[in-house]
Amino acid sequence: MQARMDEVAPDTLTLHEQHGRYPQANSVEDFRRNLAAVQQRIASACLRAGRDPASVRLLPVSKTFDEAHLRMAYAAGCRLLGENKVQEAQRKWEAMADLTDLQWSVIGHLQTNKVKQVARFASEFQALDSLRVAEALDRRLHIEGRQLDVFVQVNTSGEVSKYGLAPDDVGGFLRALPAFSALRVQGLMTLALFSADVSRVRPCFVRLRELRERLRQDAPPGIGLEELSMGMSGDFEIAIEEGATVVRVGQAIFGARAMPDAYYWPTADACP
Ligand SMILES: *Cc1c(COP(=O)(O)O)cnc(C)c1O
Repeated sequence: MQARMDEVAPDTLTLHEQHGRYPQANSVEDFRRNLAAVQQRIASACLRAGRDPASVRLLPVSKTFDEAHLRMAYAAGCRLLGENKVQEAQRKWEAMADLTDLQWSVIGHLQTNKVKQVARFASEFQALDSLRVAEALDRRLHIEGRQLDVFVQVNTSGEVSKYGLAPDDVGGFLRALPAFSALRVQGLMTLALFSADVSRVRPCFVRLRELRERLRQDAPPGIGLEELSMGMSGDFEIAIEEGATVVRVGQAIFGARAMPDAYYWPTADACP
């Protein structure tokens, strides 16, 4: 187990962990204020980059927070929530089925034995990185009579601990996807390096954008590459400067999670 955050000297914390001091949101008012603050940060980053703030979608990430807090986020206006574990997402979806316009985005790695659940309740899946999962998901979606927006996850940091396809493998992967007609491919997703050093985080986002530009030239028919999902609480401004169209933000909206990032990505401490 990694050292707890309070045992780590501040200058060794990653960008993500430095932002780990967000206060807990405990009322609808707190959520309104936090959402407004994040939208303001998005707007400022867009201004710096000469982009339209409407070109960046905020995906609030609710993982680890309980139903009561998710309901507050809903009351504050959230209609799509991101979860990285299928079981947790399904439990919340069932508990909150009364909120008929609340949708769910699964943003974490998926094993084929969980595709059935995702095909049933998710409206978006952001971590597609294998043909086995693509095939199994597509099959289940046809049974459910549904379609699903998907993002292909790319490992832009080169860390062995991260899921996602190697950049060189994405082109071939995309060419296989038109066979799966229930998957609506929207674009690419990545997690940047967990580092306090912006000069090492930014290249991950640049890599995803450049890969997208390269692949867009001859993308297979029906395969959309408009979207770039990149950036979290600690680094979304950098991601926006580099072209993010979706930012996945948890702690800046819900408050700090109890455990450091290394807990959720168990081998994240293997960073170079
Ligand atoms: C948790 C998570 C996020 C959000 O991270 P925060 O630091 O809470 O903003 C983004 N993307 C993925 C894949 C996640 O699991």
